[in-house]
Amino acid sequence: QAKGHGRGRVEQFSEALASQLADRAQLEIDLRSAVERDQFALVYQPQVRLTDGAIVAAEALLRWNHPGDGLRLPGSFIERAEETGLIVEIGQWVIDTVAMTIARWSRMGIEQRLAINVSRRQLDHASFFRGLRQAMHAAGAPARLLELEITETLAMHCSDDVLAAIGELRADGALVAIDDFGTGYSNLARLKVLPIDRIKLDRSIVEHIVDHAEARAVAQAVIGLIHGLGCQAVAEAVESDAQMNLLRVLGCDVVQGYAVAPPMAEAAFVDWARAGDRAISVG
Ligand code: C2E
Ligand code: MG
Ligand code: MG
Ligand code: MG
Repeated sequence: QAKGHGRGRVEQFSEALASQLADRAQLEIDLRSAVERDQFALVYQPQVRLTDGAIVAAEALLRWNHPGDGLRLPGSFIERAEETGLIVEIGQWVIDTVAMTIARWSRMGIEQRLAINVSRRQLDHASFFRGLRQAMHAAGAPARLLELEITETLAMHCSDDVLAAIGELRADGALVAIDDFGTGYSNLARLKVLPIDRIKLDRSIVEHIVDHAEARAVAQAVIGLIHGLGCQAVAEAVESDAQMNLLRVLGCDVVQGYAVAPPMAEAAFVDWARAGDRAISVG
């Protein structure tokens, strides 16, 4: 009977595995057609300065209007897009769209810096920086209205060529931010020589600052480190006024999160930016 049991389990296991593989294959097919059928969209989440509530940037976040599943978040497809290399094409779409949005908003009198997320596969691609420049130039969008977000882990591992290219982009006026800081393992000696302007405290650092003294101490130390490096500290996933007020006390420069505004479609973002209703208590 033991044998029978064993076979049953193996069958169950291989069925589960087969369906998982089928899901992954289907996701790849769907992602390929999503690029062709223009099913991607961007939403924009503002980042505001704690001292005066000014919008200093907005992060462009990818959304997928899936024909069957409705709106899908990056968590359900970005990893697969990276594994298959499709992120290069999707990423170029993001860059083109952001460049055109920067230019369109400028014509409407909204000078808004937009931040894009860049993944490892994109940076490894030799043509990444060329594609970026071309897109900005074609749209008539100045580099100073662009910000690149690179995760801590990626920043710790990118090549000297990539660092040099990032340096050139900064020389043109673009900003560079380290994303998800606190989730990787930073080499502090390397951190100090990276060509960066801002560091984004990951949600895991911000999450418990109100109720845990230790979490508060970590956030305070990290903000001190960021300032010591001559960078601005940006807190992400700020969900409550209590967190926002505490971050201000800790000297954090900029906040992003539901407590300020959720990621919004373009029209909603423009309305929000124009209303000047920052929903943040300036103190
Ligand atoms: P991220 O760059 O760390 O982006 C911040 C994420 O936090 C976003 O999730 C945003 O919607 C979410 N968020 C904003 N405010 C709050 C808050 O108050 N509380 C909480 N709990 N979450 C908040 P989203 O849009 O699902 O994106 C997830 C990740 O997918 C991003 O993390 C980024 O790593 C990646 N991603 C998004 N768009 C792109 C893209 O165009 N290209 C690449 N390569 N990656 C992207
Ligand atoms: Mg980001
Ligand atoms: Mg982040
Ligand atoms: Mg994060």
